[in-house]
This record gives sequence, structure tokens and C-alpha cells, in this order.
Amino acid sequence: MDTNWMNEGHCADSPPELFFPSDGVGVEVAKKVCVACPMQARCLDYALENRIDHGVWGGTSERQRRRILRSRRLSVIVSR
Ligand code: SF4
Repeated sequence: MDTNWMNEGHCADSPPELFFPSDGVGVEVAKKVCVACPMQARCLDYALENRIDHGVWGGTSERQRRRILRSRRLSVIVSR
């Protein structure tokens, strides 16, 4: 899987621990870095496809990604 896009993310020069916060304040700080990141959509897709359940990816928290995945599963069920 191509992960070269990670080098172009706004977090490339930030300490990795910033994106694995231990509380909601830390999540918001990390999400602010993601806001204008040109890799945001790709980063979110990567996290969702790989079921990454820790940290902030693509401007989303763990909880937000769980919601997105749940919503996608429900829409598949409804469309059957
Ligand atoms: S969206 Fe956030 S976590 Fe993803 S590459 Fe950009 S800055 Fe990094």
C-alpha cells in the first residue's frame, strides 16, 4: 500500500504523539493541524480502510471514525 502521501501531510514535522492524544483537548489540538492538510481525505480513507482505531487521522477522532464506519455498514444493509 502506498503511504508516500504521509510525507506530505501537515503532521509530517510534528511529534507523532500529538496525534495519539489521551484526552479530548489533545484530540482538538491534533484536529487543528489536520484542518488545512492537503492529505486529509486520503488520510481518512487510509484510517477507515485499515480500521485504525487509535489516534487522530484525517481530522477525525476515534469516535468519529467508528460512527462513519457504522453509518456505512447501515447504508449497505439498507440498500440491500
Ligand atoms: S490529515 Fe492530519 S493526520 Fe492526516 S496527514 Fe494530514 S495532518 Fe496528518
